[in-house]
Amino acid sequence: MKLSEKQRIFTYNIACLIHFAYDQLGVELTFGEAYRTKEQQKIYFNQGKSQTMNSNHLNRLAVDFNFFVNTKLTYDWEVVKPLGDYWKSLHPKNRWGGDWNNNGIKDGFIDTPHFEMQP
Ligand SMILES: [Zn+2]
Repeated sequence: MKLSEKQRIFTYNIACLIHFAYDQLGVELTFGEAYRTKEQQKIYFNQGKSQTMNSNHLNRLAVDFNFFVNTKLTYDWEVVKPLGDYWKSLHPKNRWGGDWNNNGIKDGFIDTPHFEMQP
């Protein structure tokens, strides 16, 4: 599958995720970063904000969200986990940063706001 095809599937699934958050969970969202340039990735890597130079943000296959419950900003793992579970149900290549180990348990390095599709 071409990268462009994957990007279009990813974008459609993000739309589904947003609807699910608002309609099923009552969680409102704002966008953080989606597409990221190589130059920006290098800055984050050097600052220790990212652990890889192969981020899927570079491929337009990742987006970070901010989460609001009753107008309050939160990154609480327990609040976001149902979104992560739903995200993974949408496509076999989808991964949630809150569960890098894909084990449904909060352990190791996590990135709760991050939703991606593996290329
Ligand atoms: Zn991210």
